[in-house]
Amino acid sequence: MAYPYEAPVSQTLFDRASLVTPGGVNSPVRAFRAVGGTPRFMVSGTGPYLTDADGREYVDLVCSWGPMILGHSHPEVTAAVQDAVARGTSFGTPGEGEVALAEEIVARIDPVEQVRLVSSGTEATMSAIRLARGFTGRAKVVKFAGCYHGHVDALLAAAGSGVATFGLPDTPGVTGAQAGDTIVLPYNDLDAVRAAFAAQPGEIACVITEASPGNMGVVPPLDGFNAGLKEICAANGALYISDEVMTGFRTSKAGWYGIDGVRPDLMTFGKVMGGGFPAAAFGGRADVMAHLAPAGPVYQAGTLSGNPVATAAGLAQLRLLDDAAYAKVDAVSAELRALVGEAFTKEGVAHTVSAASNMFSVFFTDEPVRDYEGAKKQEAFRFTAFFHSMLEQGVYLPPSAFESWFVSTAHDARALERVAAALPAAARAASEATA
Ligand code: PLP
Repeated sequence: MAYPYEAPVSQTLFDRASLVTPGGVNSPVRAFRAVGGTPRFMVSGTGPYLTDADGREYVDLVCSWGPMILGHSHPEVTAAVQDAVARGTSFGTPGEGEVALAEEIVARIDPVEQVRLVSSGTEATMSAIRLARGFTGRAKVVKFAGCYHGHVDALLAAAGSGVATFGLPDTPGVTGAQAGDTIVLPYNDLDAVRAAFAAQPGEIACVITEASPGNMGVVPPLDGFNAGLKEICAANGALYISDEVMTGFRTSKAGWYGIDGVRPDLMTFGKVMGGGFPAAAFGGRADVMAHLAPAGPVYQAGTLSGNPVATAAGLAQLRLLDDAAYAKVDAVSAELRALVGEAFTKEGVAHTVSAASNMFSVFFTDEPVRDYEGAKKQEAFRFTAFFHSMLEQGVYLPPSAFESWFVSTAHDARALERVAAALPAAARAASEATA
């Protein structure tokens, strides 16, 4: 596919970046490898818009992969950050901001009795798993194919093979020993989970799952799946860890827990709770969290954990996220989903708009998608044509068919009109695409 060369400044920056940074990016999916072309280097963001280094404006449907739920440069979040920066950027001591953020999380999410702040979602899931192993005295961890929990060594055993794989490392650099205690199972399959527990009695420390997956495209749990996981874990003395790094404080005031009400033993958070800064957390049952240093023996630490600027941003964002804000994000998402669905239907493109609360993605198939194998069966080549047409028309989508789209309270009628105007040509490009 030929891409119109319309981003000379981004291209120059990408060339410079590629000399000093592997692949020219600091996180792989930003590199446009799945869709081709030159990644756009963004220089500013306001409300629902991003502006790139060539001066082109885009309606942003990525929102920094979830965090910017109030849009970019929200005045109250910016003011809280400026105020925090003026008082100093890092003290390496406890501070009131981190207490207030922890209190806000505990107040919103009933199963979280205590919480520890960290700097990334990866740190949160890595630490939660260490804690689960320390608490139970067991080694094995169950995860699901297609669920992403950050680049934790043991959790990169994602098993793209489609068969439930026992600890085969997916990435060079992850050793068999690091992945050997990881059991990868198909998503939405409780029988597979029961079988794994039956095959390894007393060995499984925890089951970790995305509360509602958004990293293989959006594939919500089937009715009763999370409740079933909880029940199986409880019956076998294992911990149920719900990864809400993506869904937390986004899908409702209390994240996915606010929707399905299944009570995890431990939970992980990131993205929205940092207000665009590196802040993340894990928390849950007080008796489990009591095993964490310095209260208990399981070690975990961080120089910048609970950073005053990050906690100020996160707290300001969470305090603005009231019922009205979630109603707005949900309404924007519903309107957009309808527009996208209509455009593909009009062009006769087989598709499924798959949603979990206000998160959604498009699968280029009309078969229901329940797991990673199903997600991979879509005609992903259509997404490439769709993506580039939207980009050229000023709409920035995630550069992969296997990622959730994200919207914000700032996506107003004007932004949605711009997306609506771009969709017919993009849907036509998708319909005309060939593998
Ligand atoms: N868990 C989930 C569900 C995620 O979606 C992500 C990132 O996308 C992570 C963990 C890792 O978070 P981070 O990128 O902040 O390390």
